[in-house]
Amino acid sequence: MATAPAQPTAPRYDVHAHVGADFGFYLRGWWPYSCTVQDLLQHLDDAGIDRAVCFPFTFSSAYDPYAFADGSRVTLLPGRVPFDRENMLLVRELDRIDVDRRLYPLAMFDPTRRVAEQIRNVEQLTGRIAGLKTQPTIIESPIRGLLDEGRDLMALAEQHDWPVLIHTAIYAQDPFSQVADCIAVAAAYPKVRFNLAHSLRFHADYLRAAAQLPNVWVDCAAHLAGCQLARDPDSPFIAPRGHRVDADYARPAEVLTVIHEMLAGRYLWGSDNPFMSWADDMIRVVFSYRDEIEVLGALPERVRRDMMSAAAEEWLFGVGPASCRSGPAGSRFHTDERPGDEECSA
Ligand SMILES: [Zn+2]
Repeated sequence: MATAPAQPTAPRYDVHAHVGADFGFYLRGWWPYSCTVQDLLQHLDDAGIDRAVCFPFTFSSAYDPYAFADGSRVTLLPGRVPFDRENMLLVRELDRIDVDRRLYPLAMFDPTRRVAEQIRNVEQLTGRIAGLKTQPTIIESPIRGLLDEGRDLMALAEQHDWPVLIHTAIYAQDPFSQVADCIAVAAAYPKVRFNLAHSLRFHADYLRAAAQLPNVWVDCAAHLAGCQLARDPDSPFIAPRGHRVDADYARPAEVLTVIHEMLAGRYLWGSDNPFMSWADDMIRVVFSYRDEIEVLGALPERVRRDMMSAAAEEWLFGVGPASCRSGPAGSRFHTDERPGDEECSA
């Protein structure tokens, strides 16, 4: 009896990891503050993960690290443009160290400061980056700026078919990256594929709103930290009770499964490495890459495959049932280099 040919196994992705160094965090006594490409690849190897999406740390060297550490102020240094060095340094580090080309770099951006200069810098990396990422909270730059002075950044993403990853927050004292504003931005640019991070802080109504937008995916980055905060009745960092997804937060795999259903599968697995841990003046939450991986072992196979492979490729490359777009030819992102594309006939 003939046996069916073996199906190629879909690659597994971590869609949310930081690489680089953060002098502002270090001077301020915040932790963690660094991670090299080799560190990340070692985690992937230990966990049996094939690929990862990575991007520089949050507080670019273009901002004054002493004003940040000593005065909690975010100010650009004279003559500098946000991430003018970090994006290029990440790409170079990947060229030297990621010899098997397993990592997909996103260029970091600031939604409101020196937008034209940022665009000029990022365009020079065309073909070497896979998309864009922003973390508005730390750099105190409102995400709603993308509806106004920062709109050309989204035009750039649309022009290059670059996916965009946005940090989200629900903390009332964070006016910069509120979930509702992140959703409003995604709704305003329906041709751009967004990943709105951190499970939208487990806010049920916002997750339902995200599920209505076909260009929005959500990642679960720093899931164990989120679940720990959710077990605290009054944590201001996740959705308040009454608005929170109804799940048992002592069972992190169950939480992922519930949200995966709410999002009809547009839910992504991301570690947030090394920020699955965070220690500063207010919070101390410490988990490891291995801890996050153990949660995956408790997921139903269907959910794990969706989160780590199918949804990840749909967000990153626009492949899947809806479309079959390819990355720039000749780059590490060209579809020829990725297994599994032959199955896409759209
Ligand atoms: Zn992150």
